[in-house]
Amino acid sequence: MKNVKLNNGVEMPILGFGVFQIPDYDECKRAVLDALEVGYRLIDTASAYFNEKAVGDAIKESGINRKELFITTKLWISQYGYEKTKKSFEESMEKLQLDYLDLYLLHQAFNDYYGSWKAMEELYEAKKIRAIGVCNFYPDRLVDFAENNKIKPAVNQIETHPFFQREYDNKIMKEYGTQIESWGPFAEGRGDMFTNPILSEIGKKYNKSVAQVILRWLIQRNVVVIPKSVHKERMIENFNIFDFELSEDDMNKIKPMDTGKSLFFSHSDVEIVKFMISHKL
Ligand code: NAP
Repeated sequence: MKNVKLNNGVEMPILGFGVFQIPDYDECKRAVLDALEVGYRLIDTASAYFNEKAVGDAIKESGINRKELFITTKLWISQYGYEKTKKSFEESMEKLQLDYLDLYLLHQAFNDYYGSWKAMEELYEAKKIRAIGVCNFYPDRLVDFAENNKIKPAVNQIETHPFFQREYDNKIMKEYGTQIESWGPFAEGRGDMFTNPILSEIGKKYNKSVAQVILRWLIQRNVVVIPKSVHKERMIENFNIFDFELSEDDMNKIKPMDTGKSLFFSHSDVEIVKFMISHKL
């Protein structure tokens, strides 16, 4: 497995497994056990996914050495604020049954994320977390946040795929050594991603699927990826991306697919903001 080095020297696998939208305990536990068996070592969960316990139980049952794993969870908006963050972190750790966390992320840039960050900085300094970061921070908020805090975010997990490539965001993140991590590498199949003619054509050349082309294109741009699947055969497919390399020509064919826009929603849409902040854990 290839790793990326974060701005504090911590190594993070460039490929991991995401568990969004697997709220069912048995299904999530089985999916994580399958993923670990396939070889994934980075697991990406969140308090808002309601499956930290299933992830924790799968990790325990797998018997894999803790040091081999890289576990990420996230703090939801309604848990923001200095005191609440400390409490929520302990709750997540209890569910995950871990004594330290690899990466703790602010899930959204709303509410008191400065207060939360203060608590996260302290947890980091107490060595309870190996790296702290953010999600869904657009360049303006990232600059303000990084400039006004002691610890710069190690990671920014943002929607990144062929239709929303985030070149500019990544350029700004690099100023702070913030690693880009893609959520929704397949945009959950939106925009007919899996049957896209450009991606299919490239895939044929290398005898690889569209999913593999997308993941390979992302990791060749040094983007950390965490595809989700509940199907073991797809987990294997998504894992087998280290035995080929896209030519510069093929990388360039994907560039014009960028629409510069989300395939999901805009974080500056007032209705979305209201919806997000009304979602309490
Ligand atoms: P995704 O990984 O882009 O897409 C997942 C979808 O693609 C599922 O429907 C899955 O179906 C299907 N799929 C997976 N591999 C496939 C393959 N090889 N061929 C065909 N279909 C395939 O979407 P995502 O789950 O939204 O994003 C990935 C992870 O990012 C999440 O799980 C989560 O950890 C994280 N995330 C973070 C945020 C954030 O705000 N920070 C937001 C969204 C997601 P099956 O499961 O049926 O196989």
